[in-house]
Amino acid sequence: DDETFWRLVGASHQFAVNMLLLLARRVRANNTEIERFALNQRALERDASVDSLTGLFNRRWWNDRFERLVERAHRSELALSLMILDADHFKLFNDHFGHIAGDEVLKAIGRTLSENLRPTDLAARYGGEELVVALPGTDLVGARVAAERIRTAVSGIALADGRGSTLPQVTVSIGVATLEPNEAAAALFSRADAALYRAKNAGRNRIAW
Ligand code: GH3
Ligand code: MG
Ligand code: MG
Repeated sequence: DDETFWRLVGASHQFAVNMLLLLARRVRANNTEIERFALNQRALERDASVDSLTGLFNRRWWNDRFERLVERAHRSELALSLMILDADHFKLFNDHFGHIAGDEVLKAIGRTLSENLRPTDLAARYGGEELVVALPGTDLVGARVAAERIRTAVSGIALADGRGSTLPQVTVSIGVATLEPNEAAAALFSRADAALYRAKNAGRNRIAW
């Protein structure tokens, strides 16, 4: 009990030292346990928001974030642009070269995106071969420059086909839109999507806004 314990601490230096050592060891063990738990928690959170193929954020993360980005842009009166990218004739590519090659292309497009964006830009895999990028603080002129840079970089991707040759060029079409005053997130998204549609209809491997 309490009383006996404190009497022993007072009476024996050795007892007190042993007690301290014991407690310190226990605290350390608990800390390790907590640390492991926190790391695991972080890994789970990452898995829930990251697309495993491309390493970009996933649709779920995007749905959670996009509206908040729009609200923040309205509040701060800073520009916000949106890009929607879609791989061109990707069904044909898969049909000819297989899904595994198609997956490699999607990975490469993801890498190309990351390499050509600013640290503040947010890229996500929205669906199968469709990617979205939010560009906070970027106006339409800047977003068009970025989109064109990405389009060019993607068209330059050269992947080995595993049999000593290179896979044929893959291109993307990109729709760009910039948030207007009081515009809702869904409306901005629709405008970027409509722009993508125009880029496709105009012949693909191009950007539209
Ligand atoms: P468009 O230029 O009009 O976009 O033509 P498309 O063939 O790219 O468009 P469509 O929507 O007809 O087909 C999309 C294709 O993308 C079909 C599907 O097989 C492929 N795709 C979607 N997700 C994946 C994926 O995760 N891996 C692979 N390899 N292919 C995918
Ligand atoms: Mg598509
Ligand atoms: Mg496509």
